[in-house]
Amino acid sequence: MATAVLEPTVKISATKLLINNKWVEAASGKSFPTLNPATGEVITQVAEADAADVDKAVAAARAAFEKGAWKKMPSSQRGLLMNRLADLIEKHADELAQLEALDNGKPYSVARAADLPLTIACYRYYAGWADKLQGKTIPVSGRYFTYTKHEPVGVVGQIIPWNFPLLMQAWKLGPALATGCTVVMKPAEQTPLSALRVGELILEAGFPEGVVNLLPGYGPTAGAAIARHMDVDKVAFTGSTEVGHLIMRAAADTNLKRVTLELGGKSPNIIFSDADMEKAVEGAHFALFFNQGQCCCAGSRTFVEEKCYDEFVERSVARAKKRIVGNPFDKNTEQGPQVDQEQFNKVMGYIESGKQDKAKLVAGGNRVGDKGYFIEPTVFADVQDNMKIAQEEIFGPVMSILKFKDLGEVVERANKNMYGLAAAVWTQDITKAHAIADSVRAGTVWVNCYDVFDAAAPFGGFKQSGIGRELGEYGLANYTEVKTVTVKL
Ligand code: NAP
Ligand code: MG
Repeated sequence: MATAVLEPTVKISATKLLINNKWVEAASGKSFPTLNPATGEVITQVAEADAADVDKAVAAARAAFEKGAWKKMPSSQRGLLMNRLADLIEKHADELAQLEALDNGKPYSVARAADLPLTIACYRYYAGWADKLQGKTIPVSGRYFTYTKHEPVGVVGQIIPWNFPLLMQAWKLGPALATGCTVVMKPAEQTPLSALRVGELILEAGFPEGVVNLLPGYGPTAGAAIARHMDVDKVAFTGSTEVGHLIMRAAADTNLKRVTLELGGKSPNIIFSDADMEKAVEGAHFALFFNQGQCCCAGSRTFVEEKCYDEFVERSVARAKKRIVGNPFDKNTEQGPQVDQEQFNKVMGYIESGKQDKAKLVAGGNRVGDKGYFIEPTVFADVQDNMKIAQEEIFGPVMSILKFKDLGEVVERANKNMYGLAAAVWTQDITKAHAIADSVRAGTVWVNCYDVFDAAAPFGGFKQSGIGRELGEYGLANYTEVKTVTVKL
């Protein structure tokens, strides 16, 4: 195939901390490198926030929340600012998609076609909510007038992962800004660059000082300082279940700040023999391999009905072998590198464990090239429920195919996992589709599709996949406190 390689032209301008609308060095003077995962080379150094910077940022966010222009601003004006930010992101979409590809390794064409439009739509969706946050009037006994107000929860700490840097920033900032909160955000250490560029656009849009503070840095230092801070009213975290436990414990040990968590998954993707096989094979491929397999909701347990099992495995293997792995800036590329050496090692470790447990390796299994963190699209067949690759989140391009006999059995097996983020079913039979949608314990169920996201549709997990929902109207509830006012008549 002819290559069509784009030369990235983006200039990196934002590499410091954004505190109170000023770009500043870390109090410690320290910085850290961010790498290009396609080459393993350093892109640039970024200021490294720690506890002292968190203190400064929280103080700025507190002042903005309590007495600044933000506090006095009519809610419709907040919506206007958010729309202005969305317009600026749209204007700079090519450049932001380049930053995303450079820093994260995802294909540029995918970032441009998926991450950017979803990010922009998310800001616009929540901009629309800014002046529509209404309480209720409540009929109570006696001669009283009782009403509720939905007030912003306050200073919000937001800790985001590296798999969809711009989009996770939007999912967090959208509801926080719409409700009138102020924010101290830590982007992931692997991918700070696009979040910081958005910081420049936030200033250009005209947000008042202290409303959004951005602190690139590491989890155990800057992240933990946010989670422990006595003056942070809520923390919203997306990442591993392991760190989710730490965040909750930090809140419990300090000021009982509100906690919302969007954690991992091991989502069942259930294919019945009456499904449109071509769509099911492509859909299951996409469900697992999209974003280098680095999706919290990846369809990472592919359950296939016995009757179509052999055909499905054969076609899935053929599809995986055709998947184009390579330079994120080549427009033909479907799969870039894993985000870093650690994730690469972790995924290769799971491939080894699959082999040792005697799952049948039917595609891939190796590193690609000798530079960067590329892994072959890998497929294991005959995977059993008790194998590690069927139980733990791999977060990489490794498909596990499991065989099932009937609906009752597959539901039971699908639910036998600590996670409950998403699930999908492929069938032409509406009764089976609804039976799965009804009985699978997961926050999202897709029927004959996968990874369909919309800013209006809530997303989040049952069980250890998280607490609370993001997106949609439900996503607002976690950013407000309900105040009840009662007046004697
Ligand atoms: P992670 O450690 O949970 O990272 C997510 C975010 O939390 C990052 O900003 C991270 O900072 C921060 N963090 C880490 N330790 C912290 C602490 N003690 N206190 C406060 N914040 C902390 O995830 P990871 O190490 O990048 O990836 C590990 C696994 O997590 C993956 O293999 C995958 O299974 C899962 N994961 C899930 C999602 C998801 O969308 N649900 C996203 C990413 C990863 P640093 O930048 O320093 O890491
Ligand atoms: Mg990087």
